[in-house]
Amino acid sequence: MHGYDLLVVGSANADLVVGVDRRPAAGETVLGSDLVIHPGGKGANQAAAAARLGARTTLLARVGDDTYGRLLAEAQRAAGADTAGLLEGKDAPTGVALITVDAAGDNSIVVAPGANARLTPDDIAGASALFEAAAVVSLQLEIPLETVAAAARAAAEHGARIVLNPSPPAPLPEDVLALCDPLVVNEHEARRLLPGHTLSTDPKEWATALLGLGPRSVVITLGAGGALVAGPGAGTAGAVLVPSPPVKAVDTTGAGDAFTGALGWRLGRGDGLEQAVRYAVRVGSFAVTRAGAQESYPSAAEVETSSV
Ligand code: ATP
Repeated sequence: MHGYDLLVVGSANADLVVGVDRRPAAGETVLGSDLVIHPGGKGANQAAAAARLGARTTLLARVGDDTYGRLLAEAQRAAGADTAGLLEGKDAPTGVALITVDAAGDNSIVVAPGANARLTPDDIAGASALFEAAAVVSLQLEIPLETVAAAARAAAEHGARIVLNPSPPAPLPEDVLALCDPLVVNEHEARRLLPGHTLSTDPKEWATALLGLGPRSVVITLGAGGALVAGPGAGTAGAVLVPSPPVKAVDTTGAGDAFTGALGWRLGRGDGLEQAVRYAVRVGSFAVTRAGAQESYPSAAEVETSSV
């Protein structure tokens, strides 16, 4: 019996959001709406999504000794995650994403990684008890790549299953790719991992090409189209398309993280890959029906009782 269904290793950011009529040109100043601050970062979002669903989970991440660090820790606790893995450092501020949203709803984002850039392979070595306790370890790429690699190797050493979302896309060491079970990508990430491939519009073809890179299994999220699962555990044809239920999408921010957090939790509970993806698609689709990222994530009871 594992102490954690899911250990998320990744980023924690404060998202500072301002609405503007239009973006300022270089050298120009524009007035915006009141500032709104949300907890964010892919790692923090995934852990919050899993915890809201009832997962026993913790986030291994670095924040600064500041207001935003405390906001992020509080958001983890409020979601139901434990904060045993949250490291506070004095040498760098909490990561911040400066987000402007224009009248058309388009985002411009500048990320100041701050403490996220200071999560090191030594931090991974120092957290071996968390890896030992985890059934599944979920990774993304908003922390240094060498730390992601160290975390994947630590997870493998302790026999944990590895879920990895290569976002923002970057080349991964072959041994790390080979540990992913599954590698979780959206269309953009799939294309970035397959430079030089002329990809058709058929995601099954992308999945075959991605499996050729070495991961044990692949999940491609397709927005309103749901998700495709490929590899062993994905039916006799080797690939299964799981459609999304029809929903009225209000805000897709953080839907991918809700999906991946839910997927990691269900795998940690012992679901097969296809079964876990079926649940994660429902969670992702629920998340787009409400505004925000972590604020939009459902509880298990909400998933059960909704038509989504
Ligand atoms: P994001 O970057 O917006 O967080 P993503 O690009 O990583 O998301 P998507 O493929 O857009 O990931 O979405 C992940 C999951 O969320 C989908 O598999 C689906 O379950 C759900 N989803 C996303 N957009 C929609 C939508 N418009 N309608 C229904 N479900 C959606």
